[in-house]
Amino acid sequence: MATIDITNLRKEFGDDGEQIVAVDDVDLTIEDGEFLVFVGPSGCGKTTTLRCIGGLEDVTEGTIEFDGTDVTDERARERNVAMVFQNYALYPHMTVERNIGFPLKLSTKQSSEEISARVTEVAELLGIEPLLNKKPKELSGGQQQRVALGRAIIRDPEVFLMDEPLSNLDAKLRSTMRTELQELQKELSVTTAYVTHDQTEAMAMGDRIAVLNHGQLQQVGTAEEVYRSPTNEFVAGFIGSPSINLFTAAVDGNTLTGPDGFTYTLEDTAPLEGRDRVRVGVRPEDLTPVSDGSMPCDVTVVEQMGNENFLYAEMGDIDLTARIESRLNPAEDIGITFGFEEEDLYLFDPQTSSALKTKTSETNVDYQQYVQTGNV
Ligand code: ATP
Repeated sequence: MATIDITNLRKEFGDDGEQIVAVDDVDLTIEDGEFLVFVGPSGCGKTTTLRCIGGLEDVTEGTIEFDGTDVTDERARERNVAMVFQNYALYPHMTVERNIGFPLKLSTKQSSEEISARVTEVAELLGIEPLLNKKPKELSGGQQQRVALGRAIIRDPEVFLMDEPLSNLDAKLRSTMRTELQELQKELSVTTAYVTHDQTEAMAMGDRIAVLNHGQLQQVGTAEEVYRSPTNEFVAGFIGSPSINLFTAAVDGNTLTGPDGFTYTLEDTAPLEGRDRVRVGVRPEDLTPVSDGSMPCDVTVVEQMGNENFLYAEMGDIDLTARIESRLNPAEDIGITFGFEEEDLYLFDPQTSSALKTKTSETNVDYQQYVQTGNV
């Protein structure tokens, strides 16, 4: 297994006339055995970063090291990496057995018997042994995905690189495969870099998450870190579903005002000092309908999700989303005010978009106390 050190990685496409900077000075270490997820909007450079790690793209600047050895100029086949892509790329004319065994046939001098034994071992691990004689077109999407994984595993790679490997599957299967993949990765403890545009998938799967935007690394951290302590407004907006509510407010002493009737007085004024405006962020789950709240709104739509309700409202021109208990069903078109706790409030610099204040609410409760008393 390998630690991957990425230093000042830059990748440009195009000639001098029309250059696209796909990866812009990315610095990152992926620890040995870690499951790191690259996430970000379409075109932010996730796939290109992954392809640079795998040796499928020449880098414009910077270095990539596996366990301290510089592999920047090594080609893909010289690096001990296995890649799994969205489209599986199985050979349609080959059986599952031959598809899985193919990389060994290409890269080693093992006998057919040895390869066959190893294929069976991998197929058992993935629960696809009964499918070994079938062709890819006879398989479901989930089964094809397992075969593609099998083909990646069989070479005992130092590094797995996965690019949206679950996005062709339906929602239920995707969530099952998510768990299976995580279990498999833990079992094999192969350093893994995984690309997705789906922040929920990133949060669920990654030991750490690397958030990219415009080719630049915005933040690397655990799911909790990027959710609770985003470094800037972009990360706050990208992580969390539904998205955080964001708007600009004027600062007057320790009070935030506007737009359209919003007013909130902070106890801790440090983040406001020297500012006349800030960007305010409150997550949908932290808004509570109260009689004297700081956000007067009109309810537009209530979506009943069964276990909770999503409440969409307008505060003047600002669209707000709140996640509220499923027992609460305010009529659409009524006026409502939301309140929130200062410990849940996010503030950002309107110019740089850097975070000035993030969540300070308690993160961990005493588990033993919780189960004994039924609450905290
Ligand atoms: P998506 O989620 O849509 O796959 P991504 O985050 O993986 O996006 P990349 O595919 O890495 O993004 O692309 C980053 C930028 O580089 C985009 O602007 C893209 O158009 C550009 N790009 C990627 N590959 C090439 C190429 N071979 N030639 C020219 N431009 C490219």
